[in-house]
Amino acid sequence: MIDDRFIYLKIYSRDKKRIIIKKLEEIVKYITATQIPDSIENVHPEFIKVQVILARTNLIRKMRMFGGEGCLKYSECDICDEGHCITILYEDELKEKWGSRYNSIMRAIEDSIKATEGLVITMNNKPIMAKFHNTCGGATENSENVIGNRVMYLRKVLCDYCLNSPNWEGYKEISIEEIEEKLKVKFPNLTPTLKIDMKGFIEEIDRDEEGRIKSIKIGGKLFKGTEIKEILKLDSTRFSIVPKILGVKTCGQGDGLGLCQYGANQMALIGFKFNDIINYYFTGVEIKEIEKPCIKWPLKEKILVIDPGHGGDDNVGVKGHQGLMEKDVVLKISKRLKEFLEKLGAVVYLTRYDDEYVSLNRRAELSNKIRPNFFISIHLNSFYNPSIRGCEMYYYKGDIESKRLAECIMDRMVKNINVVNKGIKVAAFFLLREVGASSLHIDIDYITNPEVEKLLQNSEYIDKIAESITQGIVEYYKF
Ligand SMILES: [Zn+2]
Ligand SMILES: [Zn+2]
Ligand SMILES: [Zn+2]
Repeated sequence: MIDDRFIYLKIYSRDKKRIIIKKLEEIVKYITATQIPDSIENVHPEFIKVQVILARTNLIRKMRMFGGEGCLKYSECDICDEGHCITILYEDELKEKWGSRYNSIMRAIEDSIKATEGLVITMNNKPIMAKFHNTCGGATENSENVIGNRVMYLRKVLCDYCLNSPNWEGYKEISIEEIEEKLKVKFPNLTPTLKIDMKGFIEEIDRDEEGRIKSIKIGGKLFKGTEIKEILKLDSTRFSIVPKILGVKTCGQGDGLGLCQYGANQMALIGFKFNDIINYYFTGVEIKEIEKPCIKWPLKEKILVIDPGHGGDDNVGVKGHQGLMEKDVVLKISKRLKEFLEKLGAVVYLTRYDDEYVSLNRRAELSNKIRPNFFISIHLNSFYNPSIRGCEMYYYKGDIESKRLAECIMDRMVKNINVVNKGIKVAAFFLLREVGASSLHIDIDYITNPEVEKLLQNSEYIDKIAESITQGIVEYYKF
């Protein structure tokens, strides 16, 4: 199912309402087709390459295994397709967008993906925020004017390549009422004697005591009030000019950050290559191949399900003499374990994330859907004699991989935190039996031992446990 040559993305799917794992390049394909404006008539292959590299760069920047922050809503995922991470249109929507051009554009994107395989835009070896917009209208923007902070590669560059863009110039009329409403402001009442000056348009209004206009300058030319009354066929010289509509002229479309899409396509049409185009709009960047995480990420693509035992009000597990509860400790350990493992490239699921009841059946079901490399249950032990302490691990009969994993983890636990090795044993617990994957049950230590109970309340100690398990897993995969 998972092939080592590819990079996989964990994405929360709004359609399926669950996490799915997709090849990075497949998502790049959809994103590229989503982001290229269909208003561009002749989309040049070099411009498609540019958009492909932009999409890939932005995804890699977000991915957890490359140190990114992932989706902020679904903490499990690199991205979601709900919209706040990124907008992705899929087949049906893209067919609608591209119409008769759908097949040719998708083929062209696939070719561009192959031609630029693995390439991303970096600065100081980190993937950049590859911003782009439809049309810059003459020049792109410095980042500090848009997002408030100075980003070295998002500098203003002049661009008239987008001169032929339909969005080079725009015009919009907005009524005064609409402006009042939207900006929550109040303009002065429209009275005939309202004084208004608009430089270059209407100025130097001179009135007599009754408010009649003696003279007025319009468009730089001086008129008598009576003259204006005559020419514009007004009822009186006691008049004023009041704005009703604001005509707003715009230049360009979008926030102006980074690459100008119309400009980039035009550059491609006149012979620039994708790297020239990227270097033109992003100041001081490098285009290079992503470093495959397999070296720095020893657990790349390993899928693990961590199962914090118990949970909920009626299933607290065992308890210490000071009242510390197993369900809380094992959840803490599991959460840290997940973080540590993910830093090394693993894809990690928990069977519960909160203090909630999850049945054993449900836990097995979850795991059997995910089909991980390992399923690891985390528990604590108890005994009436408080002096007893030590770590025990259980695997299902014949599961030699779990046994070997247990040996690696136990070795680390003994070396790092001096736990007493109370043995690695065979058991037929429900989960060991019902989970299809290799599975391991770890009783970390005895919560009924006062010293252990004290240690387990210390977050540094929790980290040490999680770290030891992580190291054990890495060790296992070294063989
Ligand atoms: Zn998201
Ligand atoms: Zn431009
Ligand atoms: Zn337990």
